[in-house]
Amino acid sequence: MARLSERLPENVPGEFYVDRTCIDCATCRVVAPEVFGRSGAQLSYVRRQPDDAAQRRRAFMALVACPTASIGSVGCQPAHEGVAAFPELLAPSVSYCGFASEHSFGASSYLVEREGGNVLVDVPRPAAPLMKRVGERGGIDLLFLTHRDDVAGHARWQARFDCTRVMHADDVTSDTRGVERPIAGHEPVALAPDLLAIPVPGHTKGSMALLYQETFLFSGDHLMGTEDGSALYASRGVCWYSWADQVRSLERLLDFRFEWVLPGHEGRFRASSPAAMRRELERLIASLR
Ligand code: SF4
Repeated sequence: MARLSERLPENVPGEFYVDRTCIDCATCRVVAPEVFGRSGAQLSYVRRQPDDAAQRRRAFMALVACPTASIGSVGCQPAHEGVAAFPELLAPSVSYCGFASEHSFGASSYLVEREGGNVLVDVPRPAAPLMKRVGERGGIDLLFLTHRDDVAGHARWQARFDCTRVMHADDVTSDTRGVERPIAGHEPVALAPDLLAIPVPGHTKGSMALLYQETFLFSGDHLMGTEDGSALYASRGVCWYSWADQVRSLERLLDFRFEWVLPGHEGRFRASSPAAMRRELERLIASLR
């Protein structure tokens, strides 16, 4: 729980605040950009208190999603409306789960609801209210793990829903050696007619993206949007395996059609069409050469 005594001095006065335990994961700035900003000290802070009920609800969603419980509300108001907001529908059948885990550095996770069985992409905190709501939406058939860094809590979700965990063999560690479906090699693998696992080595050796309905690309830490969602972005600073391979893997994505990039960290990016997404991806790749 956030502590008022640890409140960062940059916060504007009012109901919400961020304390010194912030790890700068960017979650709150993506969930409630009207309220949270990034300070010169590279931590989040409340730049503006909510103006209305909708912004207050977003602030409570950020409070719930924050992986380190670094966001507080003066008087410790109950965060029911933030809890109830997750999973948050981003598009028909695709939701953001909130409830980020500190052990995955606040990584985003997503729920895909589909007739052939639901998919959880990466792993939210195994919080009881979220697990209950995911169960009410049909549970999980597949748990797709994009890479080794964002898997904290995977065993709890697998045990709760008896789902099949999918992960690239090159990223399996002692923690994930029990995954039911390791993927080998560099060729895309069709998990179902509407689900394609695409190996994208670079950020880690076994990074994979998941393409759903040729529309949604769940990209892990391989490819992301800027925080404000205005452009695509790839980070050399957090490339742990091979930057040359990561750029090659970005080029490979030009072979695929999609309109959304839903990453593990930073912002989401939505293009107006697959052609517009391709142009933006080409721009990014050219900027990296
Ligand atoms: S979500 Fe929490 S840890 Fe992440 S940037 Fe915001 S306050 Fe910091």
